[in-house]
Amino acid sequence: MGVSITATPPDTDPASPDLLRESGQREVFCGLTSIVWLHRRMPDAFFLVVGSRTCAHLVQSAAGVMIFAEPRFGTAILGERDLAGLADANEELDRLVRDLLQRRPEIRTLFLVGSCPSEVIKLDLSRAAERLTTQLAGRVRVLNYSGSGIETTFTQGEDNALQALLPLMPAKEESQLLIVGTLADAVEDRFVALFERLGIPTVRSLPPRRSTELPPVGPGTRVLLAQPFLSGTARALQRRGAQLIEAPYPFGVEGSRDWMAAAAAAFGVDPARVAEVLDPLVERGRRALAPHRAVLEGKRLFLMPDSQMEIPLARFLSRECGMELVEVGVPYLDRQLMAADRALLPPGTQISEGQDVERQLERVRAARPDLVVCGLGLANPLEAEGMATKWSIELVFSPIHGCDQAGDLAELFARPLRRHALLSFA
Ligand code: SF4
Repeated sequence: MGVSITATPPDTDPASPDLLRESGQREVFCGLTSIVWLHRRMPDAFFLVVGSRTCAHLVQSAAGVMIFAEPRFGTAILGERDLAGLADANEELDRLVRDLLQRRPEIRTLFLVGSCPSEVIKLDLSRAAERLTTQLAGRVRVLNYSGSGIETTFTQGEDNALQALLPLMPAKEESQLLIVGTLADAVEDRFVALFERLGIPTVRSLPPRRSTELPPVGPGTRVLLAQPFLSGTARALQRRGAQLIEAPYPFGVEGSRDWMAAAAAAFGVDPARVAEVLDPLVERGRRALAPHRAVLEGKRLFLMPDSQMEIPLARFLSRECGMELVEVGVPYLDRQLMAADRALLPPGTQISEGQDVERQLERVRAARPDLVVCGLGLANPLEAEGMATKWSIELVFSPIHGCDQAGDLAELFARPLRRHALLSFA
């Protein structure tokens, strides 16, 4: 879904001349999209979108191909009478939740997810969550967060969901490494095993695999962000006493090694032990990258703002795959969370924050890059104009973290270039 905002002229930051700020029409998915990976991560949770038929279609089509069993998300459709304020949407919501929980007794945490329509009619979902938690007498925890396109881009839905869980995390002084951000289970298992080999004994994750088994947090917690779009969660954990480990994100061989090494340093692990454990991984990862680098090297890349993963990916694609960066767009720039990756970008890399989609498309057409990373809505028109594209949404649905995944990550970008080359010869 696109969100329209009144256009204002682009603005460069005098302190960072390579940063272009734009505010205009955006072409991004909303935060409801993150339900697709969150519901797979926590199978004992249910995500109930309080929205319109459009919201239901969005989540259904984003997740539709992945449903194997009864879905763990749904939509409470706000009808015309609700939207016109003629019906009590709260009563209807309570009835729907009671029916749902009767049919699905395995649900332990219920997220009420706000949308544009629920915001427009000012339906207070935090009060609804409190009321339902009391009514259900502790059998199910009811939480709420916003996935509305007015407020969120698609990965910010996870940031909001984690912040909703945070008040339920117990306080504890214990020393622990807390990996924050959804990872594929197999990737997470590998990281935990590696951290154990490095000598970090207690490693926990947020979100956990069971919504009721939340990790504790306190002054002994060192937070290692696995995803770059969790600004609100990172700040909220810091307010609970946790310390943030600053590192590049674990995309590619270099980023993954630096990410693990930064965690090891925070726990006082000897650098010689870090090299002993990680060097074989680095070597294997580089070997897997080589055939894809041959395709990507020297190719020009334009990243449009969508997933908030653009800066770490640009760092990986330029430094490890030899791509040339035309423009790196981000929905918003969190200077602290992006500092390590931004420092590794080639000097003078053009970063744009926010979006004025028409102006940005003009820059794409003028530059004619070899590859454009963008949302689904822009990919088809650009392909029709003869440009190769990569859907950014695939990057959150694929296991791309870690040295062992670096080859697969590069392959995601090499594949459209190979296909484009084949079509050009056909
Ligand atoms: S929350 Fe808003 S942007 Fe997202 S699908 Fe619903 S109406 Fe569209």
